[in-house]
Amino acid sequence: MYYIDVILPIPLKQAFTYNVNKDQAVFLRQGMRVSVPFGKTKIYTGIVYAIYNNKKPAYETKAIDQILDETPIITPTQIKHWEWMSSYYMCTLGEVIRAALPSAFLLESETIISLSSERTEDESNLSDDEFLVFEALQHQSSLHINDVRSILDRKNVVKVLQQLLQKGIIEVQEEVYEQYTPKLKRYVKLAAAYTSEENLKELLDTLSRAPKQRAVLMTLFMMSAADKKPVDAIQLQKKSETTSTVLKTLVEKGILEEYYIQKDRIEFTGDAGSDIKKLSDAQEVAFSEIKTAFKKHDTTLLHGVTSSGKTEVYVRLIEEVLETGKQVLYMLPEIALTTQLISRLQLYFGDKISVYHSKYSVNERVEVWNNVLSGKPKAQIVIGARSSLFLPFTNLGLIVVDEEHEPSFKQYNPSPRYHARDSAIVLGNLHKAKLLLGSATPSLESYHNTELDKYGLVVLKNRFGNVLLPDIELVDIKEKHRKKQMKGHFSDRLLEAMAEALENEEQIILFQNRRGFSPVVECTTCGIAPQCPNCDVSLTYHQYKGELRCHYCGYHMAMLKACMACGSETLDTKGFGTEQIETELKSLFPNASVARMDQDTTRGKNAYAKLIERLDNQEIDILVGTQMLAKGLDFRNINLVGVMNADNLLNFPDFRAHERSFQLLQQVSGRAGRTQKRGKVLIQTFNPYHQILQQVSVNDYEGMYKQQNEERYQYKYPPFYRTIKITFKDRNLQKMQQASSWFAQALSQQLKENVLGPEPPPVSRVRNQYISNVLVKIPKQQSISKTKDYINTVHRSFNGIKEFSSVRLTIDVDNY
Ligand code: ADP
Ligand code: ZN
Ligand code: ZN
Repeated sequence: MYYIDVILPIPLKQAFTYNVNKDQAVFLRQGMRVSVPFGKTKIYTGIVYAIYNNKKPAYETKAIDQILDETPIITPTQIKHWEWMSSYYMCTLGEVIRAALPSAFLLESETIISLSSERTEDESNLSDDEFLVFEALQHQSSLHINDVRSILDRKNVVKVLQQLLQKGIIEVQEEVYEQYTPKLKRYVKLAAAYTSEENLKELLDTLSRAPKQRAVLMTLFMMSAADKKPVDAIQLQKKSETTSTVLKTLVEKGILEEYYIQKDRIEFTGDAGSDIKKLSDAQEVAFSEIKTAFKKHDTTLLHGVTSSGKTEVYVRLIEEVLETGKQVLYMLPEIALTTQLISRLQLYFGDKISVYHSKYSVNERVEVWNNVLSGKPKAQIVIGARSSLFLPFTNLGLIVVDEEHEPSFKQYNPSPRYHARDSAIVLGNLHKAKLLLGSATPSLESYHNTELDKYGLVVLKNRFGNVLLPDIELVDIKEKHRKKQMKGHFSDRLLEAMAEALENEEQIILFQNRRGFSPVVECTTCGIAPQCPNCDVSLTYHQYKGELRCHYCGYHMAMLKACMACGSETLDTKGFGTEQIETELKSLFPNASVARMDQDTTRGKNAYAKLIERLDNQEIDILVGTQMLAKGLDFRNINLVGVMNADNLLNFPDFRAHERSFQLLQQVSGRAGRTQKRGKVLIQTFNPYHQILQQVSVNDYEGMYKQQNEERYQYKYPPFYRTIKITFKDRNLQKMQQASSWFAQALSQQLKENVLGPEPPPVSRVRNQYISNVLVKIPKQQSISKTKDYINTVHRSFNGIKEFSSVRLTIDVDNY
């Protein structure tokens, strides 16, 4: 008898054993997929882990259903990496596999299939079985695996489905995905109806009463006469010294027609084209320092101020690695926010680039997976968010982790709760690849590692082209309130600077940490604020929809007319969010075009890319947004950045709050003045003497680092201590409290004073579940793996306690 151990994509502690026949045993390799029965009715796709003879396990094994691959789709290196992840992040290998593989690789009984929306294959190429499924899907919009079993009247159907997937006939249903779309540039032309001389004359006559519109037309004629090239809408607007509104009116009247031509996203004054730019002297030095650093350190941090041209340095490095034939992984915190960068790299490396992201369609992901696995040239460079580090690299030479300080590199939920930067370092080691971390505001952890000489460090102190870093000014709004120099949430200082920028036709970015209209609605009579019925948090007012919403569970209700508690019609909005600023702006600057960038306005497909495009096309004068603004936007025409209120960042109850505030404020400021004119940043605060704001205002990263590091040392936090957060949730408050106390006590038997809590988080009830956290701190000299073993032991005893069986427990290693 032959057996195989299969890893199933579910939270099982160990691999599950199945029996196979001799032929199968000879054929199978580690990393191939098999479909297997599990429990009474379930089917899973699992990964073959080991194959052996005669060592019968102590339980009755089942036979596998089918072998799904001819060759392994997972490499031994991946398995090693995932084993490390599972042990480091205290989760099962199955959970890692579920996160790692595109869902199309893991067909199972729960999978729902439907006809592909972009079918190209013609049906005559289908086998009989394939055709039967195809036909069934003509009558029924979706099918489960068990339906397919009855249609084909047999058990083994996964392979048939796999083939249909490959042929692009069916698709696996899952959340909507976003597609990368290239940037379009807007052009205008005279509508066809007016091209005849007669009609044109008539038109110009009627427009004599609309001189502004007429002027635009005259400019258009002039521009199209000069060279026969298409007329760029922005250029037209500028040359005719008019506003986007006038242009819009002409289009709406059907006099002008808009059309779009695809263009490369980043334009350079000077020579455009796809040649790699010549590095500046400073960049050249950094480039060679990185290479020197790599001789000693596999991981090196490039600390370069915003707009210092880090990307160009990566590009040179990538170019060198490509020449050796090796693969490159370029990781970014969030793909949706980086369309700019993708097209910039595509300009240089063209079709050598593949983009990989969990929001891309299943088919695209499978395609990239296969291309990486077989070392295809078109996947030699992979750009991706954190999930890209699961790809089957065979020959990885370089990993770039851009914006390495970004918290979104850490996955919160579901398990594996991994940090992509840290996991990338391990991946790099397994491949003997080099790793470059880049940031204008490195995380304390990474910077600390350079101090310890674990990582190399290379610094770019100046912006490219010696553009000055923006001038950052703190505005004391306590003082401004006292002197009655505030209009709504705007100080006279900010208003003045904005008016000037608009006058100069420059764009403005306003940063407000909160979305929505106003975080809290409060009754001025009784002081009570409406709360979410499911969560321990106040509802947020969204003016646009006239709703009160919970940002934790999505609960919403119509805005109240009167206070629920006392009935008075005295509900007042306190605090403020992006939506309220947008509203205030409309009355402060009625002629400016205002847009908002936050989770609510970027939800839809491509919504983010469209906003960027409008900004780039200068259709937006003022952009109000949340921290989304901080991420790598590169626009030429933004000279003023306003921070509405720095205090709510600083007061966030988290040990990283100060570091995060520094990073966010520096990154947001970095959006200002990327051209020759020095940018201006105004930060409104009640507390202008706060050390972090002082450090932000003079770009003092080192000062911030020293001080924060000192505090982390004193209070025993990373980078000096490691942390593991254990979270307990239950609908029953008492049970949750008992369970978390029991656990904390059990832990402190051995870990003593390094166990903190249980402590409820700031929002201590979400979706009707009460929450509490226990934090374990691990000093440097204490063994991490022994500590984890101990936590696991306690966890096992905990699982044995019946009365706690409903309590949900999650473990987050290196929590953020
Ligand atoms: P960072 O990533 O450090 O914020 P970028 O790489 O985005 O900086 O560079 C900032 C701007 O300067 C970009 O518009 C980029 O095109 C330009 N730039 C940087 N290096 C060069 C170079 N060597 N030659 C021409 N332009 C450059
Ligand atoms: Zn009231
Ligand atoms: Zn809620």
